[in-house]
Amino acid sequence: MRPWEMNIRRVVPYVPGDQPAGDKLIKLNTNENPYPPAPGVERALKEMDVDRLRKYPDPSSAELVKALAEYYGVGEDQVFVGVGSDDVIAMSFLTFFNSQKPVLFPDITYSFYKVWADLYRISYETPALDENMAIRPLDYKGENGGIIFPNPNAPTGVYMPLDQVEEIVKANQDVIVIVDEAYIDFAGPSARELLSGYDNLLVVQTFSKSRSMAGVRIGFALGSPVLIKALNDVKYSYNSYTMNLPSQLAGTQAVKDRAYFEEIRAKIMDTRERAKKRFAELGFTFPDSMTNFILATHERVPARAIFDALKKERIYVRYFNAPRLDNSLRVSIGTDEEMDVLFRFLEQYL
Ligand code: PMP
Repeated sequence: MRPWEMNIRRVVPYVPGDQPAGDKLIKLNTNENPYPPAPGVERALKEMDVDRLRKYPDPSSAELVKALAEYYGVGEDQVFVGVGSDDVIAMSFLTFFNSQKPVLFPDITYSFYKVWADLYRISYETPALDENMAIRPLDYKGENGGIIFPNPNAPTGVYMPLDQVEEIVKANQDVIVIVDEAYIDFAGPSARELLSGYDNLLVVQTFSKSRSMAGVRIGFALGSPVLIKALNDVKYSYNSYTMNLPSQLAGTQAVKDRAYFEEIRAKIMDTRERAKKRFAELGFTFPDSMTNFILATHERVPARAIFDALKKERIYVRYFNAPRLDNSLRVSIGTDEEMDVLFRFLEQYL
């Protein structure tokens, strides 16, 4: 080994889902939205003055922050935007999780949390989900250096009611509690409703799922002005995390188009409820998902075999080779037509 290799910071990297190329495939593996972004997004990009690309973008993404503050009824000093919620969460780990005590997140959850904790040398503990794959609020009441969990959780899809979220935030007012709401628009009330009562709460959301914009990378956090300023101070120390101009323009238009947003999220929830019925009829069990995906386990046929058979048909779903997940498939909710193709194949195959 060369001497400098000793100094390389090594992490076990996150493994992203496949992004296969081509049109003739059904892509239900990375929880993208099957519908296009709001019409205003296309207009904003087409009308963008390309000459503006000569200059650096607004580092504060002021227009986008303003649109989000108006939409969610909070102050502009309560909104932080980043390059996807991955960026917002990574920045939050760096900014908020520094104590000697371990940060808590569930044992089965978004696998990036562990990567960032290792990368930033933050100690952590991972309380186990209960037998129904739900987070137990009681596990989040001991001493800790901060808390993060997705609500609904991923890849289980299980939603924690707001009173339980509040129980956790209330019991942990000495540390920062981050609720990662990547899928909240397909679920129930958001922890946003608790922000006025708790200045240690940070709520993170994304444009990648309900707003159909995974490709532009926009995420944001809502929280008290103290938390938002702290995030911005860290962000400005890493200038590369500024949102690019096309993303800022497209994101601002997406937020303004409320009607389209309501229409497509309702459509996905509707397709999801029908998918649950079909999965159950085919002999699958699953935690009751409140997201745009379902974590389904077949009572008889191993998940890996189903995964391989679907892939041969160019139907992509997600398989996790991990404890308690290795006999399940995570299937994103596509269009009704895509789901019909999936279920027609499964009817034959199983
Ligand atoms: N949190 C959770 C729970 C997720 O599943 C995802 C999507 N993979 C993200 C955050 C990150 O989403 P994005 O960076 O696209 O905003």
